[in-house]
Amino acid sequence: MSTAICPCGSGNLLDACCGPYHDGHPAPCAEALMRSRYSAYVLGLVDYLVATTLPAQQAGLNRQSISDWSAQSTWLGLEVESSEVFGGQPEHAFVTFTARWHDSQGEHSHRERSSFVQNGGRWYFIDPTVQMKLGRNDGCPCGSGQKFKKCCYNYLQGS
Ligand SMILES: [Zn+2]
Ligand SMILES: [Zn+2]
Repeated sequence: MSTAICPCGSGNLLDACCGPYHDGHPAPCAEALMRSRYSAYVLGLVDYLVATTLPAQQAGLNRQSISDWSAQSTWLGLEVESSEVFGGQPEHAFVTFTARWHDSQGEHSHRERSSFVQNGGRWYFIDPTVQMKLGRNDGCPCGSGQKFKKCCYNYLQGS
Protein backbone atom coordinates (compact mmCIF):
# COMPACT_ATOMS: atom_id res chain seq x y z
CA MET A 1 0.00 0.00 0.00
CA SER A 2 1.21 3.44 -0.88
CA THR A 3 0.59 6.28 1.54
CA ALA A 4 0.26 8.94 -1.15
CA ILE A 5 -2.69 11.31 -0.83
CA CYS A 6 -4.92 11.33 -3.89
CA PRO A 7 -4.26 14.37 -6.08
CA CYS A 8 -7.99 14.84 -6.79
CA GLY A 9 -8.33 16.75 -3.52
CA SER A 10 -10.58 14.30 -1.70
CA GLY A 11 -8.11 14.09 1.18
CA ASN A 12 -8.15 10.30 0.92
CA LEU A 13 -5.27 8.01 0.12
CA LEU A 14 -4.75 7.41 -3.60
CA ASP A 15 -5.21 3.66 -3.05
CA ALA A 16 -8.60 4.31 -1.44
CA CYS A 17 -9.71 6.93 -3.95
CA CYS A 18 -8.85 7.24 -7.65
CA GLY A 19 -6.08 4.60 -7.66
CA PRO A 20 -8.37 1.57 -8.14
CA TYR A 21 -10.06 3.26 -11.12
CA HIS A 22 -6.65 3.93 -12.67
CA ASP A 23 -6.01 0.20 -12.20
CA GLY A 24 -9.12 -0.74 -14.16
CA HIS A 25 -12.00 -0.85 -11.69
CA PRO A 26 -15.04 0.95 -13.12
CA ALA A 27 -15.74 4.32 -11.51
CA PRO A 28 -19.18 4.08 -9.86
CA CYS A 29 -20.43 7.50 -10.92
CA ALA A 30 -19.59 10.35 -13.25
CA GLU A 31 -18.11 12.48 -10.47
CA ALA A 32 -15.74 9.68 -9.46
CA LEU A 33 -14.68 9.30 -13.08
CA MET A 34 -14.15 13.04 -13.41
CA ARG A 35 -12.00 13.12 -10.27
CA SER A 36 -9.97 10.15 -11.45
CA ARG A 37 -9.38 11.87 -14.79
CA TYR A 38 -8.07 14.97 -13.01
CA SER A 39 -5.73 12.86 -10.88
CA ALA A 40 -4.67 11.01 -14.05
CA TYR A 41 -3.60 14.38 -15.49
CA VAL A 42 -1.57 15.01 -12.34
CA LEU A 43 0.02 11.56 -12.50
CA GLY A 44 0.55 11.55 -16.29
CA LEU A 45 -1.66 8.53 -16.95
CA VAL A 46 -2.33 9.18 -20.63
CA ASP A 47 -3.66 5.67 -21.30
CA TYR A 48 -6.30 6.16 -18.63
CA LEU A 49 -7.35 9.54 -20.04
CA VAL A 50 -7.78 7.96 -23.47
CA ALA A 51 -9.57 4.86 -22.14
CA THR A 52 -12.13 6.93 -20.21
CA THR A 53 -13.09 9.06 -23.21
CA LEU A 54 -16.06 7.92 -25.28
CA PRO A 55 -14.68 4.95 -27.30
CA ALA A 56 -15.87 6.47 -30.61
CA GLN A 57 -13.71 9.53 -29.87
CA GLN A 58 -10.53 7.80 -28.70
CA ALA A 59 -8.91 7.70 -32.14
CA GLY A 60 -9.43 11.48 -32.43
CA LEU A 61 -7.45 12.27 -29.28
CA ASN A 62 -3.92 13.63 -29.53
CA ARG A 63 -1.96 11.51 -27.04
CA GLN A 64 1.14 13.66 -27.42
CA SER A 65 -0.66 16.88 -26.54
CA ILE A 66 -2.39 15.22 -23.57
CA SER A 67 0.97 13.96 -22.38
CA ASP A 68 2.67 17.36 -22.90
CA TRP A 69 -0.11 19.26 -21.14
CA SER A 70 0.00 16.83 -18.24
CA ALA A 71 3.79 17.02 -17.91
CA GLN A 72 4.22 20.77 -18.44
CA SER A 73 1.57 21.83 -15.96
CA THR A 74 1.80 22.08 -12.22
CA TRP A 75 -1.60 20.98 -11.01
CA LEU A 76 -2.96 23.19 -8.24
CA GLY A 77 -6.29 21.66 -7.41
CA LEU A 78 -9.75 20.52 -8.30
CA GLU A 79 -13.09 21.66 -6.94
CA VAL A 80 -16.21 19.77 -7.93
CA GLU A 81 -19.17 22.13 -7.76
CA SER A 82 -22.04 19.89 -8.72
CA SER A 83 -22.92 16.60 -10.28
CA GLU A 84 -26.22 16.23 -12.13
CA VAL A 85 -27.19 12.67 -12.93
CA PHE A 86 -30.02 11.94 -15.33
CA GLY A 87 -31.88 8.66 -15.36
CA GLY A 88 -32.74 6.79 -18.51
CA GLN A 89 -30.90 4.36 -20.67
CA PRO A 90 -28.07 5.05 -21.09
CA GLU A 91 -27.49 7.21 -18.05
CA HIS A 92 -26.04 10.67 -18.65
CA ALA A 93 -24.51 13.15 -16.24
CA PHE A 94 -23.01 16.61 -16.10
CA VAL A 95 -20.22 17.38 -13.66
CA THR A 96 -19.36 21.03 -13.07
CA PHE A 97 -15.88 21.64 -11.73
CA THR A 98 -13.00 24.08 -11.61
CA ALA A 99 -9.45 22.89 -12.21
CA ARG A 100 -6.44 25.09 -11.49
CA TRP A 101 -2.94 24.67 -12.84
CA HIS A 102 0.24 26.59 -13.46
CA ASP A 103 2.39 26.50 -16.58
CA SER A 104 4.92 28.65 -18.44
CA GLN A 105 2.14 31.15 -19.22
CA GLY A 106 1.14 31.55 -15.59
CA GLU A 107 -1.74 30.39 -13.51
CA HIS A 108 -4.99 29.14 -15.01
CA SER A 109 -8.39 28.44 -13.62
CA HIS A 110 -10.85 26.64 -15.83
CA ARG A 111 -14.50 26.03 -14.99
CA GLU A 112 -16.25 23.43 -17.07
CA ARG A 113 -19.52 21.55 -17.22
CA SER A 114 -18.49 18.20 -18.65
CA SER A 115 -20.77 15.56 -20.13
CA PHE A 116 -20.57 11.89 -19.26
CA VAL A 117 -22.42 8.78 -20.40
CA GLN A 118 -22.55 5.31 -18.92
CA ASN A 119 -22.28 2.32 -21.21
CA GLY A 120 -21.66 -1.32 -20.32
CA GLY A 121 -21.20 -0.45 -16.63
CA ARG A 122 -18.54 2.16 -17.31
CA TRP A 123 -18.72 5.92 -17.37
CA TYR A 124 -17.11 7.83 -20.23
CA PHE A 125 -16.25 11.48 -20.73
CA ILE A 126 -17.78 12.95 -23.90
CA ASP A 127 -15.07 15.26 -25.20
CA PRO A 128 -16.64 18.34 -26.85
CA THR A 129 -13.35 19.15 -28.63
CA VAL A 130 -13.24 15.89 -30.61
CA GLN A 131 -15.14 16.25 -33.87
CA MET A 132 -17.40 13.38 -34.80
CA LYS A 133 -18.56 12.99 -38.39
CA LEU A 134 -22.09 12.28 -37.42
CA GLY A 135 -25.59 13.27 -38.41
CA ARG A 136 -28.29 13.73 -35.81
CA ASN A 137 -30.07 10.64 -37.17
CA ASP A 138 -27.00 8.41 -37.01
CA GLY A 139 -26.52 5.79 -34.32
CA CYS A 140 -25.21 7.34 -31.11
CA PRO A 141 -21.42 6.97 -30.66
CA CYS A 142 -21.94 5.84 -27.06
CA GLY A 143 -23.18 2.51 -28.44
CA SER A 144 -26.65 2.76 -26.88
CA GLY A 145 -28.27 1.73 -30.16
CA GLN A 146 -30.37 4.92 -30.13
CA LYS A 147 -30.20 7.79 -32.57
CA PHE A 148 -27.56 10.39 -31.75
CA LYS A 149 -30.19 13.17 -31.50
CA LYS A 150 -32.18 11.14 -28.96
CA CYS A 151 -29.15 10.26 -26.87
CA CYS A 152 -25.81 12.02 -26.28
CA TYR A 153 -26.40 14.92 -28.71
CA ASN A 154 -28.42 16.93 -26.20
CA TYR A 155 -25.84 16.50 -23.48
CA LEU A 156 -23.04 17.69 -25.74
CA GLN A 157 -24.90 20.94 -26.39
CA GLY A 158 -25.06 21.62 -22.67
CA SER A 159 -21.34 21.73 -22.17
ZN1 LIG B 1 -9.09 10.76 -5.90
ZN1 LIG C 1 -25.46 8.18 -26.57
